[in-house]
Amino acid sequence: MTGARTHRGLLIAGLAGTTGAGAISILLAWLALLGGAKAASGCAATDIVTPSSVSLAVLFQGAAQQSRLGDRGPAILAGIADVETHFGRDMSTSSAGAVGFMQFMPNTWATYGVDADGDGRKDPASPSDAIFSAARYLRASGAPADWPRAIFAYNHSSAYVQKVLDKAAHYAQELTATAPVAACRASAAELSVIPGISRVAGDGALAAIPGFPGEQVDERILPDVLALIATYHVAVTAGYATRGHAPDGEHRLGLAVDLVPGPHGTWDDVDRLAAWAEPEQDHPRPPFRWVGYNGDANHGRGNHLHLSWEHSPTEASQRSVRWVDVFDVAGG
Ligand SMILES: [Zn+2]
Repeated sequence: MTGARTHRGLLIAGLAGTTGAGAISILLAWLALLGGAKAASGCAATDIVTPSSVSLAVLFQGAAQQSRLGDRGPAILAGIADVETHFGRDMSTSSAGAVGFMQFMPNTWATYGVDADGDGRKDPASPSDAIFSAARYLRASGAPADWPRAIFAYNHSSAYVQKVLDKAAHYAQELTATAPVAACRASAAELSVIPGISRVAGDGALAAIPGFPGEQVDERILPDVLALIATYHVAVTAGYATRGHAPDGEHRLGLAVDLVPGPHGTWDDVDRLAAWAEPEQDHPRPPFRWVGYNGDANHGRGNHLHLSWEHSPTEASQRSVRWVDVFDVAGG
């Protein structure tokens, strides 16, 4: 998009013009300039995050939140952006062939690249796209449980890992996961305001559910599903499915599971999960859109518990949705 490219050009020119300043002062200048403008204009639930309208800090926080990278996520993303390109000041292709704002190898970008600024392209030169993609890659590489391993995956050098962690320590004060700007968390377009619930954008790729051969769900709800399996000892009898379920329901989107007692579980466990997910009939707890259990035809104790996750509006022909709400799994 011409507009987006123009803004990005200005933005990078602005950074490049700050000669002699340390990276921290550049970041703080960003916060003052763009964060200030942001505060003045408010933070509407419909804000679309683009490089021209938000600070890098918001991108680091939003990306860390979306990929559930924990408290250290924003500062470590900033550390990587600093070490790799000095926040976009040097985006030349590396000797190894890495490209863009966060210096992705093309193969890695092909797998993890996302269109976070909503311009219809996955562009490694876009700060939004690059930062959100980096967060996704770090999560897939072991963060936040094992940050050194995840950073090493990014660049196979122990010296690099230490450099990023040192930089991150500098940024930790400004970039906590809970700073006020985090309220303007980046996502496709919308914001979940419910504590403990994250609204996750993405392309809705299907992921296999480990331990349940043949069963898949949208990768965005997989951490939730795994947490429920571990906590309530349930087994998945259906996830993504194009037939055999309500045609307008969430199975065809990969955003529903049918659950029965697992090897170490009983119907009492399923009862407990059902009561947690739907404390009152037809009033499910977020992020669930619909819970089918006792009181719903073909569902209930002795049959199965159905859980559907809340998601963006969709059309009958669509396979994946723009965003889905998930609960925050303890431990990242
Ligand atoms: Zn179902």
